[in-house]
Amino acid sequence: MAGADAVDTHVLVVGAGPVGLMLAGELRLGGADVTVLERLAAPTTESRASTLHARTMELLRQRGLLDGPGGLSDPEAPPNEPRGHFGGLPLDLTLPSSHPGQWKVPQTRTEELLGAWAARLGARVLRGHEVLELAQEPDRVRLVAEHHGVRREFAARYVVGCDGEQSAVRRLAGIPFPGDDAGRELIRADVDGIDIPNRRFQRLPNGLAIAARRGDGVTRVMVHRFGTPPRTARTRFADIVTAWRDVTGEDIAHGTPLWVNSFGDASRQAERYRAGRVLLAGDAAHQQMPIGGQALNLGLQDAVNLGWKLAATVLGRAPAGLLDTYHDERHAVGRRVLSNIRAQARLLLGGPEVESLRSVVGELTSYDKVRAHLAGMISGLDVRYGAAEGDEAALTGSRLPELRLDSGASTAELLRPARGLLLVTDPAFAAAAEGWSASVDTVVTRPTGPLSGHTAVLVRPDGYVAWAGDGAAGLLPALTRWFAPDPRPTTTLHPPQPTVRRRKMGNLTGKTALVTGASRGMGRATAERLAADGALVAVHYGSSADAAAEVVAGIEKDGGRAFAVGAELGTPGDVHELFLALEAGLKERTGETELNILVNNAGVMGGVKAEDTTPEQFDRIFAVNARAPFFVIQRALANMPDGGRIVNISSGLTRFANPDEIAYAMSKGAVEQLALHYAKLLGPRGITVNSVAPGITRNGNPLFDIPEAVEAMSALSAFNRVGEPQDVADVVAFLVSDDARWVTGSFVDASGGTLLG
Ligand code: NAP
Repeated sequence: MAGADAVDTHVLVVGAGPVGLMLAGELRLGGADVTVLERLAAPTTESRASTLHARTMELLRQRGLLDGPGGLSDPEAPPNEPRGHFGGLPLDLTLPSSHPGQWKVPQTRTEELLGAWAARLGARVLRGHEVLELAQEPDRVRLVAEHHGVRREFAARYVVGCDGEQSAVRRLAGIPFPGDDAGRELIRADVDGIDIPNRRFQRLPNGLAIAARRGDGVTRVMVHRFGTPPRTARTRFADIVTAWRDVTGEDIAHGTPLWVNSFGDASRQAERYRAGRVLLAGDAAHQQMPIGGQALNLGLQDAVNLGWKLAATVLGRAPAGLLDTYHDERHAVGRRVLSNIRAQARLLLGGPEVESLRSVVGELTSYDKVRAHLAGMISGLDVRYGAAEGDEAALTGSRLPELRLDSGASTAELLRPARGLLLVTDPAFAAAAEGWSASVDTVVTRPTGPLSGHTAVLVRPDGYVAWAGDGAAGLLPALTRWFAPDPRPTTTLHPPQPTVRRRKMGNLTGKTALVTGASRGMGRATAERLAADGALVAVHYGSSADAAAEVVAGIEKDGGRAFAVGAELGTPGDVHELFLALEAGLKERTGETELNILVNNAGVMGGVKAEDTTPEQFDRIFAVNARAPFFVIQRALANMPDGGRIVNISSGLTRFANPDEIAYAMSKGAVEQLALHYAKLLGPRGITVNSVAPGITRNGNPLFDIPEAVEAMSALSAFNRVGEPQDVADVVAFLVSDDARWVTGSFVDASGGTLLG
């Protein structure tokens, strides 16, 4: 078993199929460190499950996975398809939803999308790793996997098996998997070079035939001969050819099979989805016939239910019992889906003996209430967690349908960072969740749609309503049940000090940032703040490599992501050197070199009177403070997508005379020009460029250790104190956030009122 040098991570996810990748992304959003182990050396090219139902589409939209380039809603993606079926009987699946009906998306595409997303968020995926051993200890799980014949050891606080029906994790953890073996099977293949009529669940005297030709000319065929039990040998194309001929009379032997497999109506469910530090999700937790694509959707929804709970647990901010609600909620949902699938399998694969049953069910589905009931079950839109019996109309426990609030924001977008969301329709309740601001965002809005009649609606990170009602009496227990309160703030010795509040943490999740001069001072505070907001931050330094490493370590300790990049600015080749290191660091962590945020903070002061300044000193100040930011922006634009953010740190000395720093103030005056002119140039790309001008701000300078000097400097500010690095970092954090999308080319005074005179 694993020793001290084992790869250590918060959570090991076993299986890089759609469910494992979805879970990895959700865990990363929650701040947990994730490693995914996958047996296959490369993603599968077999497009197995190809249906995404309305609830899954809503969840993908909630994480921003449907929009933008590469998203599932791009013009090339197929449109939705309202026609579904129940056991082969036509059923309109349309129900009120942002994405009604079902969406045909090849599994390879879903996997690609989720894989890129999880990698962007910082999940590590290790392919070609087959799990061999697993042992639970009181505080961790140790696991051995084989990679190219070599045993590698891993340790994690929790392991999640997303490794399919034959789950090694389930077997090694000894979790029973009771249920029924398959009694019948459908054999299927994707076949090129055949020209047969499309068939939607055609029942013929000898069996059932399904054929669907795709845009690329490949036909998916599925066939079942009534009364035939599943074969024990591996399915070959010849089996399909024979069965197809027996059932339809057509010959498809001349076709080229792209892949062939079979699936039966076995129905099993893990006794528990959690055994100590081992959890199961997707097909590892439940095996069912993949009728109507329900299996994949069920698995993806397991992942979204589990991710935030497990992340909060490993980071020590979960209320007691939170993780156990995963089994309680998803086992019950799985049981219900398995039951509807068993019913459908009987209707679909039964022979002439089920005809009368089919005709009765077919008659019933013509009633809209029945249709809507079945559609809710199949689409996953009817899932309710912990709802009181007979209280179907209540919002608590249901999904929150996407709402556009009066601010223009949509609830799906507000849920993107996978944090709690408190919607209050009475501003008096806005303060109620203040003690939970590290994990819950509060939005005051007009009562609209399902919010009507409630003063507060608390939504979980997975988009389900934790509580909806009136008054703080119900809200506080709900907050306590689902979210841990913020740690107590540390008291400060010198009031009035700034309160550093971490609101809207996670709003930069998925973004990358470069902060120059981040080894100390305001640069450091900015790097820490952006990382706390969810960005992957490149911590740049000139000469203080150790200090930068310390900043990175601190960010990682707090659950953030960062790496250090060194380059001395103001020297020949400086920008090239900076971007070599930056791109290597980004590539390693995200698979791409995209940079969303640039903060030009590094700077040097002159400290020399005008009459003593030499041309060399002048050039040096300009090279670091003005020339470097210009060329850093020029180079960064190649990596910056539309909607990027650039902030340049100037100084109050462009507005406040100090004859001892003329050259320095000139260089900062030059920096401010960047915002004015670049903002105009980059507006069409949605990139904002702004200047922030700090006043006297505490940095490592020994001057700040002299009380008299601090007192004199404090007197310059309207607030009678010197600035703290966080005062400026918070202003930068706002400018790089989505909230500042309408601010560009501006000069932002962050001097604590020093410029008021
Ligand atoms: P600081 O504590 O002096 O730290 C400066 C940072 O910039 C360090 O990380 C340093 O990295 C880096 N740096 C300096 N010269 C560099 C070079 N040639 N190449 C690469 N990196 C270099 O900074 P601060 O006081 O927080 O100031 C940050 C920004 O705010 C500066 O632009 C400054 O002009 C401006 N500002 C400061 C004040 C203030 O009162 N502090 C007021 C107004 C404006 P290494 O140590 O690794 O070299």
